[in-house]
Order: sequence, then structure tokens, then C-alpha cells
Amino acid sequence: MNGKGERFLKDVLDRFDEAAETLNLDEGLREFLKTPKRVVTVSVPVKMDSGCVKVFIGYRVQHNNARGPYKGGIRYHPDVTLEEVTALAMLMTWKTAVVDLPFGGAKGGVKCNPKEMSRSEIERLTRRYTAAIADVIGPHIDIPAPDVYTDPQTMAWIMDTYSQLKGAPTPEIVTGKPVHVGGSEGREEATSYGVAVCVREAAKKFKIPFKNASIAIQGYGNVGYNAARILHDWGAKIVAVSDSKGGILCRDGLIPEKVMEHKKKTRSVVNFQGAENISNEELLELDVDFLIPAAIEEQITIKNADRIRAKVIVEGANGPTTSEADKILAERGIKVVPDILANAGGVTVSYLEWVQNLQRFRLSREEVLKRLDDKMVKAFDEVLEYSSRYEVDMRKGALLLAVHRVAEAVNSLGIWP
Ligand code: NAD
Repeated sequence: MNGKGERFLKDVLDRFDEAAETLNLDEGLREFLKTPKRVVTVSVPVKMDSGCVKVFIGYRVQHNNARGPYKGGIRYHPDVTLEEVTALAMLMTWKTAVVDLPFGGAKGGVKCNPKEMSRSEIERLTRRYTAAIADVIGPHIDIPAPDVYTDPQTMAWIMDTYSQLKGAPTPEIVTGKPVHVGGSEGREEATSYGVAVCVREAAKKFKIPFKNASIAIQGYGNVGYNAARILHDWGAKIVAVSDSKGGILCRDGLIPEKVMEHKKKTRSVVNFQGAENISNEELLELDVDFLIPAAIEEQITIKNADRIRAKVIVEGANGPTTSEADKILAERGIKVVPDILANAGGVTVSYLEWVQNLQRFRLSREEVLKRLDDKMVKAFDEVLEYSSRYEVDMRKGALLLAVHRVAEAVNSLGIWP
């Protein structure tokens, strides 16, 4: 087993096995839940701007739909493999179950390098990929969304292609669309809002004063910046942030909007006036109340876990903490609010977008965020309840809760034919 995708899939399956063991699931049900219900591989021929034709490989893996239609993003990346997409599809099943959405889990991907492609090449790729999977997706079957290097524009192309094929406007086929073609208010900051709710709830439950709580955030993109903005608005103190070029520290607190203005001008948060430059490694090891990794995977590892000094880690990013690091953090009493709970705000608002599309009505931003807040608080409490019932950390508690919910649904439905 050499590939990153294969290692990732093995890790996801191992964690599932552990949860299944704790829940005492029977062998047949374990096999059922480990195996995706449908795996689709398609070739995606695209006429490039040069006139030549290139063929890309695309996937859609539908892991489980016992709790509702499949739901999951589509990523465009040169490293996409079937194993990676399969692991991500399974994680989507657990994520939608943790926040109790009536969805299953799926993921899609096309192996390509969008950084080397023109906008019109990406549009043709998207439309052909959509046509290739059109028979297995649908508003009540499988609803895609954006992921790495796909965005609201990509979703608009998918919606249009699907609508043309079916002969009727079908906004409910994808979520994460631009607002003017049926996207939801509040979608852009949804993931960060969910992260912020987890920080607020963790402060309450772990008895850390929220007002002026010190927060360090790794990554200043969509999730990191919006989380900084919301938490600052709520009275917490953002003391450090970073991006791929490095980080900044200001113990008196940063104004997130000002840092963003600086980043827009200089393409980085580094050298922000009044703050001290620090490295990403230093940011992760700061003595703060909350650390929010909101960049990429595998940032807290066996190499730095014993130097982390945050009281609580709230995972905005997917997979920022390795399993070995988890053990060290647990021994050191550092709490981790896991990704499948902490960053589930995005898929929760995707659910609200889908419902709005199906019913042809619109919620205001305030209504969306209120519903999101309620869902996140409920999920946070349920995960804590599971972790104390089984005496495990919150990551295992979240997985136990999710697997229990999906297993219950599969058992109730039975197997037919
Ligand atoms: P983004 O591309 O908008 O931002 C990523 C940020 O991370 C950028 O500021 C980039 O400079 C920084 N970064 C990259 N490499 C880094 C490194 N080595 N060290 C420090 N910073 C680094 O992406 P995003 O949408 O904000 O997503 C961030 C994470 O959150 C990803 O793991 C993503 O899978 C996860 N996530 C995002 C959403 C969503 O709705 N956007 C939902 C769920 C999970």
C-alpha cells in the first residue's frame, strides 16, 4: 500500500471497525457499511483550447443512502484517486448523520489540474462530467456540492447541464450555487459559523470564559477568515492567524477585516502592521484557549502533538490531526472537537439550500443561521453525550453517534430484494 489515498481509506475503515466493535454491530452489517453501494468511473473527454482532445477520469462514489439521498462534494485535483474518493464518501455518510440531516454520503472527483486549465476548459470538463454521471445523480438520489477547486460557478454549470438534459430548471440538483440561481443566503460563512458555534459551546461545557478567549487560526481562506470574523464579533480575541506564507501574532487581538484588507493587498497576512511575524509551526504551538486548524490535513502530528498548548482544538479543516497525534493530545488532556462535527455547518446549510429549492421559497440569512445554530448545538451536545457514555474522546463519540444512526436506519429498512 503506497498511495496516500489508500492509506487514507485504510485509516477511515480502521476507525469505522473500532466504532463497529464498540457498538457490537454484527459482521454482515459491518461489511454492508464498509462497502459503497455504488461506484461509478467515467471517462471525460474534453476539447482543449488548443483543439486537441484530452480524456480525464472522473468518479462518483455513493457510500450509503439509508438515511436519505446521497450528499457530497466534487473535487478537481491531480491527486484524485478512487480510494480517496471512496474514503471521503464514507466520511460524508458519518458527517450528515452526526448533524442528523436526512442525507447519506457520497463524493465525486475528476483527476485533473484546474490550475493549468482555462475557464472554458473547466466549463467543458464540468458539463461532460455532469452528463456522464447524470443517470446516477438527481434531486432525490444524489446531490453534489463544491469541494477542493470547485466553486459556486462549477455548481451553476452542473445545474444548467442537468436542467438542459432533463428539460426543466432543476436547482435542487446541486447545493453551493450562486445565490441568484437558488443558492442559500448564509452559505458562504456556514462552515465558519458552525466552527464558531463549536468554540462557543466548548467554552461553555469546558468552563473557559468565552469573552476575550484567546484564539489562534491556521489558514485564512474561506473557513479561517470567516471564523475569525464571527468569533471576533462575538467577543473572543483572535491573537494569531496564518496562511501558506506564514503567520502573525498580536496578543492584544487582531481585527479580522483589517487583516483581510492587508492580505488582499499583499497576498498574505504576513507583515501586518502592529503584529509580530511567526511561522505556521509556532502558531500551532501557541498558548491559547482555542486553536482552529482551517487550512489543510495532517498539521497536528506525532512531531508536534506534545508541544501543542491550546486548551481545545476545533477542527475547521478536514483531517488536520493524525491518529497518533490524537492519542498524545488525549493523554495531555487537550480536547478536540472533531472535523465531522466542527465543520458540518457547510453541509447543514447545503441541506437548507436543497429544502428551499424543493419548496421554491427563500429563507433570510438570519433564519438560515438560526437554524444552523440550533442544529450545531444539538449535535455538539449529542456528541458529548456519546463520548461520556462510552468514555471516549469527542472524535470517537462523534463516529459512534454517526455509525449508530446509520446502522439503525439500515436495520430498519432491511435488505431487498
Ligand atoms: P481556502 O482555500 O479558502 O483556504 C485555505 C487557507 O489555508 C488559505 O489561506 C491558504 O493560504 C492556507 N494554507 C494552505 N496551506 C497552508 C499551510 N501549509 N499552512 C498554513 N496555511 C495554509 O479553503 P477553505 O474553503 O477555507 O477550506 C479550509 C479547510 O476547511 C479544508 O480542509 C477544507 O476541506 C475544510 N472545509 C471547508 C469547507 C467549506 O465550506 N469551505 C467545509 C468543510 C470543510
